[in-house]
Amino acid sequence: MQRAEPQDFSRVLSSMCTEPHPAAREAAGRFLATNPGDPGTYETVAKLEREAVAILGEIAGLPDAAGYIASGGTEANIQAVRIARNRASTKTPNFVAPASAHFSFQKAAEVLGVEMRVAPLEDDYTVNLEAVDELVDEETALVLGVAGTTEYGRVDPIPELAARANAVDALCHVDAAWGGFVLPFTDHEWDFSDADIDTMTIDPHKMGQAVVPAGGLLARGPELLDELAIDTPYLESTSQVTLTGTRSGAGVAGAVAAMRELWPDGYERQYEVSQANMEWLADAVADLDFDVVEPDLPIVAMDLGPDLHAALRGEGWRLSKTEAGEARAVGMPHVTREMLESFVADIRRLAD
Ligand SMILES: *Cc1c(COP(=O)(O)O)cnc(C)c1O
Repeated sequence: MQRAEPQDFSRVLSSMCTEPHPAAREAAGRFLATNPGDPGTYETVAKLEREAVAILGEIAGLPDAAGYIASGGTEANIQAVRIARNRASTKTPNFVAPASAHFSFQKAAEVLGVEMRVAPLEDDYTVNLEAVDELVDEETALVLGVAGTTEYGRVDPIPELAARANAVDALCHVDAAWGGFVLPFTDHEWDFSDADIDTMTIDPHKMGQAVVPAGGLLARGPELLDELAIDTPYLESTSQVTLTGTRSGAGVAGAVAAMRELWPDGYERQYEVSQANMEWLADAVADLDFDVVEPDLPIVAMDLGPDLHAALRGEGWRLSKTEAGEARAVGMPHVTREMLESFVADIRRLAD
């Protein structure tokens, strides 16, 4: 039998994951048999996890952040809704999310039995604040915004959303799962220093160039995480706030290694390269007379039509679709200018 090999990244435009930094790969390999879910036994990886949270806090404008390394953005988002639900005084809480929110919030609503109220978007793909005002009420436990939406890379008006949460004593959550490692180098207001945010999702295993799995949940203070605490009788530690039990020490060690190497200069350079590449792609595709959604952050959506989309996939291009049917390309670190030139050449050839 031939040994299975993973895909290479040479034609992957669809993914929000990427080739990990070599230091992350190396550290992950060394920590494969460790479990940060049992910090009393696995002390070194537990210490690394505290370092990971501290660096994530620095990236997100929150010195002394509370939080932990989760399995991904999905777990972090579910936990943020859970904190808000457990803290709410009503038995019938709801949370308000933009229509652009990641599908993990639907999972959160279902698993936790919390009503999800969806606010429509403006023409620029950010949330409509008047709609949020209509949806928020006394039973709202959480108002959330997305900093770097999955489809178009847009940033919701975070300070305005935080103010609306405050007005009804709800929490404010920011989902920066993908955007958190590029936003520090932009003018957007998205982090804990810009607004009264309570919790944030920020994933090292996306733009952070860590190994999978490494998501991040940050909280303004430990008392928010305490909303999640469950007693753990047979572990050396006495309580646990995470959703999963045994967790990936490789993910934690990989995240620390990548962030030590790359924060801040390496990430800044990557943001600049990725942003320039996606602007180049948007211009090149627009020159071929296709409608393009301009990249605010390094994501481009292109209205190529279903036939061309299928033909490009036939050439091996990995290209996802937005809900509206546009082809979506994410400017991850493995996406180079050379790769995009070859992609545009294929569009030109196949479009005739
Ligand atoms: C990718 C993503 C998620 C989900 O993260 P996973 O690591 O895939 O669970 C949540 N929110 C946003 C904005 C994302 O881009």
